[in-house]
Amino acid sequence: MSGTPDAKRHKPNNASTSVVGSALKKKQPPGPDYDKGIKYWDNVDASVDGVLGGFGTGPVPHVEQLSSRLLLLSLLPSLSPFPNPLTPTPSPPPPHRRTALDVGAGIGRVTRTVLLPLFDDVVLLEPVDKFVREAYRQAASGEWRDLPRIGVQPTGDDEMKMAAWKEDKRRVEESKQRRGKRVRVIKRGLQGLDPKYPSEGGEEIGIAGEKREGEEGCDVDEVIYDVIWCQWCLGHMNHPDLVAFLKKAQAALRQGQDSYIFVKENCCDDAPGGEPQEFLDEEDSSLTRSSAKWLECFRDAGLEVIREEIQQGMPEELFVVKT
Ligand code: SAH
Repeated sequence: MSGTPDAKRHKPNNASTSVVGSALKKKQPPGPDYDKGIKYWDNVDASVDGVLGGFGTGPVPHVEQLSSRLLLLSLLPSLSPFPNPLTPTPSPPPPHRRTALDVGAGIGRVTRTVLLPLFDDVVLLEPVDKFVREAYRQAASGEWRDLPRIGVQPTGDDEMKMAAWKEDKRRVEESKQRRGKRVRVIKRGLQGLDPKYPSEGGEEIGIAGEKREGEEGCDVDEVIYDVIWCQWCLGHMNHPDLVAFLKKAQAALRQGQDSYIFVKENCCDDAPGGEPQEFLDEEDSSLTRSSAKWLECFRDAGLEVIREEIQQGMPEELFVVKT
């Protein structure tokens, strides 16, 4: 996949020919085929460039990840680990370990760059074997800044290697002053998922990192989340499965406290008159929904939209991305 931007994220030239349902005399419009979706991703590189359809090496991931962190901090300023204009004097962390869920997580790009810097624990779910194993490999090997590990001290006089080793050592020492961070990696798709029991119907790959302080978190019998993050994967769900997932997601949020579901996805235009519409992309068997269609999904799941943001700085040829 690297190099060539993925058609999936491009605006369709002849959108009207792929409108779902209108000309078909079936009771149900064809929805995404889950096996076909997995097969598509199975043939994509297990890299940031792969999961971002060829947009992984330019500014897109940086801009996109920064916006996500800022949005999280604007809704949950107490997540900030250090003083900043939004929270000049951060309050001490709550007794529970603040926990996030990342679904359809690919190789863990969002967990690594958006969630782990702010949360104590992350549960990472991804159905494609090579993606989920790559996520775990990176997380467990010390490649992620927030899960540092010290390797063997280099011998010889390679200054770069020595500097990298010293930096790892510094990060490990620094992290010992804190509560410790973890990521629990599970191979699982979204269909039928109850986030409270993330490994039911899935395969545990492992937990990377270490817990030193704080209660509960990612490895308890019933996981409760402060944030559930869904990015560029809900198109793989048909309407009933998506609504069922969102309802269960809401029930898995920490009650009575600031807790949110974030949905960051491509949006096509609404049909004339602001009517909801969706397109089935035959290549990866995913639906691109319009804004009104997303609102319909959220309404059907009994969710209230409290913030809507357009991702700025995305290339012109891509669909609008909204959180
Ligand atoms: N959210 C990640 C990955 C996006 S790529 C990121 O932003 O970097 C789309 C992801 O959706 C892939 O990892 C793909 O394997 C996953 N996916 C495909 N079918 C799925 C399903 N049925 N359930 C959950 N995830 C699915």
